[in-house]
Amino acid sequence: MVHHSSNQPEAARSFAVEVVRTLREAGHEAYWAGGCVRDRLLGREPKDYDVATDAQPRQVRKLFGHRRTLAVGASFGVITILGPKGAGQIEVATFREDAGYSDGRHPDAVHFTTAQEDASRRDFTINGLFYDPLEERVIDYVGGQDDLRLGQIRAIGNPVERFTEDKLRMLRALRFTVTFDFQLEPQTLDAIRQMAEQIRVVSPERISAEMRQVLTGPRRAAGIRLLIDSGLAAAILPELNEAAATDPKCFERTLEVVDRLDHPGFSLALAAAFWPTVNTETAGKIGERWRLTNKEIDRIAWLLDRHGALDAVQHKAWSSVQRVLVAEGAGDLLDWMQAERATDEADDADVAWCRRQLARPHEEIDPAPLLSGADLIEHGVPRGPIYRELLDQVRDAQLDGRIDSTAAALQLVDRILSEN
Ligand code: ATP
Ligand code: MG
Repeated sequence: MVHHSSNQPEAARSFAVEVVRTLREAGHEAYWAGGCVRDRLLGREPKDYDVATDAQPRQVRKLFGHRRTLAVGASFGVITILGPKGAGQIEVATFREDAGYSDGRHPDAVHFTTAQEDASRRDFTINGLFYDPLEERVIDYVGGQDDLRLGQIRAIGNPVERFTEDKLRMLRALRFTVTFDFQLEPQTLDAIRQMAEQIRVVSPERISAEMRQVLTGPRRAAGIRLLIDSGLAAAILPELNEAAATDPKCFERTLEVVDRLDHPGFSLALAAAFWPTVNTETAGKIGERWRLTNKEIDRIAWLLDRHGALDAVQHKAWSSVQRVLVAEGAGDLLDWMQAERATDEADDADVAWCRRQLARPHEEIDPAPLLSGADLIEHGVPRGPIYRELLDQVRDAQLDGRIDSTAAALQLVDRILSEN
């Protein structure tokens, strides 16, 4: 479900109260439902609020008016209510049960039903809670509050049946376990182990959306371990499975590095998880398989290819170092190095040195070039592949401080050409 999150939590919350009040004053049953209830009980700010009600979609629309509602989800019982400025929008869903899941992902049809049935069709007990914001009361048909207290992710009902209906739930189970730092309830985990292979019916976009949350969250190493342990990695990320099996000790170190990354983006987290076993080419295939953006795929490759490029950087020519430091991915590379140094309890003077360089004014570390292709044309150099070579050498000389004027750059060009 696509949500347009509000940017003002207080406005979103009071709008969510108003939506429930409006439905109740019209004689309907209505509660906050699912993720928002869970998040509030965990002391987290909900991303958005969902309301569940016994009102039918057309009644909801009538009550809130066509101008303030969207009916894109009406066929499965969902009406979107547009909030006042800053309050975002709220999805009001009629209590429903899902009938039949022949594709292993989406219900074939929905039937409107009671609150209790609606709780039972949800995936995990902690996601099956309702909250009445008018009476400030939790309505718990599925034992969700106990599992919140225990810190565990447990499928509602029979886990094998629930995962058979919708295979994406296997990956959601893992994602919730990791993002809340919970345990995966043993029978729920067992069911995933039995069925992990079937995760393949889920679209790559959905798989990578879940993986993104796992790998950019704070417990990403635990997430990778669970991915392997549950059998899901064998189905969606066999390359990592192999890396873990080939050299377990090396893989432990990789996981420690991954865990130490400070708020990494998806590309950095993946590159660090791939190193040193999954090569650039294979990483690119994984990126394409998961429909990552070209920018993300390029960043992963850039990072893997630059691993080590800044090691002992103080002893390297500035001209080679500078090209790495001025690249867009330099921040990621340094964060990665820092995590590696910490893991290996190694000296991180090189990282600190690079960060000091990056703190200098941009025109100092990346000065305007002394020479361009146009200058070479004007200087009468015949066009050809030599241009790239000449400009590179001039740039090196400039960065390393051997020349500091266009005249000196042209002299260098003449010298190189006469030597060739
Ligand atoms: P998030 O913080 O990721 O938004 P969420 O629990 O709100 O977590 P949503 O995907 O927004 O997740 O779904 C809202 C609610 O709908 C869930 O809390 C759950 O009750 C139910 N739900 C979502 N996806 C499924 C599913 N695949 N199977 C069963 N119930 C689901
Ligand atoms: Mg949600």
